[in-house]
Amino acid sequence: MTDFDATRAMFHLPDGMIYLDGNSLGPLPVAAADRVARTVRDEWGEMLITGWNRAGWMDMPTRLGDRIGRLIGAEPGHVVLGDTLSIKVYQALASALEMTPGKQIILSDIGNFPTDLYMAEGLARTLGDGYALKTVAPEDVAAHITEEVAVLMLTEVDYRTGRRHDMAALTAKAHAAGALAIWDLAHSAGALPVDVAGGQADFAVGCTYKYLNSGPGGPAFIYVAPRHADTARPVLSGWLGHEAPFAFDLDYRPGPGVERMRVGTPPVLQMAALEAALDVWDHAEIDDVRARSVELSELFIREVEARCPDLALASPRDPAQRGSQVSFRFPDGYAAMQALTARGVIGDFRAPDIMRFGFTPLYLQPAEVIRAAEIIEEVMAGRLWDRPEFKTRERVT
Ligand SMILES: *Cc1c(COP(=O)(O)O)cnc(C)c1O
Repeated sequence: MTDFDATRAMFHLPDGMIYLDGNSLGPLPVAAADRVARTVRDEWGEMLITGWNRAGWMDMPTRLGDRIGRLIGAEPGHVVLGDTLSIKVYQALASALEMTPGKQIILSDIGNFPTDLYMAEGLARTLGDGYALKTVAPEDVAAHITEEVAVLMLTEVDYRTGRRHDMAALTAKAHAAGALAIWDLAHSAGALPVDVAGGQADFAVGCTYKYLNSGPGGPAFIYVAPRHADTARPVLSGWLGHEAPFAFDLDYRPGPGVERMRVGTPPVLQMAALEAALDVWDHAEIDDVRARSVELSELFIREVEARCPDLALASPRDPAQRGSQVSFRFPDGYAAMQALTARGVIGDFRAPDIMRFGFTPLYLQPAEVIRAAEIIEEVMAGRLWDRPEFKTRERVT
């Protein structure tokens, strides 16, 4: 059984802040600050170029990839880190489209995160020749998986509403239609149990700075199913995905398995932070995290609905249909979230009217959830958000 008081002590959280935004940027693991400082001082500082071998920098993308693989149900040796999630979406999609010749439709939903859709549009434009992205409402996806679909590209948990797709069922339907399935786990990895192997995902991608707490700009990950790992051809054919990068051949030959999805020089300092963040998982079970996340979310919904009649639940009411976040709609949601932030309750806002709150049991406690609901009630009942300073939009909402 996970000791959540112990995991909470592994994070630095500023005094007086109730942090309900770990679904967007996880907090600092206490050990990460030291780990990064050590990597800077003892490895970069003392070893310089020899650190690639002596400090194991070159192996970090696969070594840490395996640790993430355990959290998403991947077979060992089939996850690699690098780049940002947008890039990993592009890579997975380009390879998948090459593996489904004769079909040109990428199917996704309008709840998907825009960058995933933008990357797909850009790739379809480059490919030309009838390639197109088709988006439908999340609840209509299954009905649109037809023979013309080449690739089903979905984010398991909707970033705005928290609605969760059924990975295994939709993947099975895609396979029956001769399509491949790519799953974006941005809001799943570290938030709930995922089983990419059992669910038969062909590709999966995700980021590490949300529920995996690697810090701003932490690298993304990609999973390629073992059955495709030696046939998927990387479109971003960078030197570190080459079979023998240090042979400096003029011709590209893809590396073994998922290593071919590496592109260029990995972000060593960010991976040092990630390594410390992943150590927290040596003390936590994902099933316990999920059970507690459901408890915290149900408590939050109950408290907020009892106190704030103006907020309309935008997330599925059934916890089994939700990820690890709860969203409410409110027309002045941006100002309301600014007013909450000013009072130390940190969530975020997603246009046009979504106030979003993330539940992260590793460092969030039930008493904080109740206190957050009390503060939300004060802000809503007193219209404390209705002030000009809360209505000016900042660059990041
Ligand atoms: C957070 C998120 C991203 C972010 O992509 P980056 O390239 O890391 O900025 C992409 N897709 C989804 C579904 C996300 O939730």
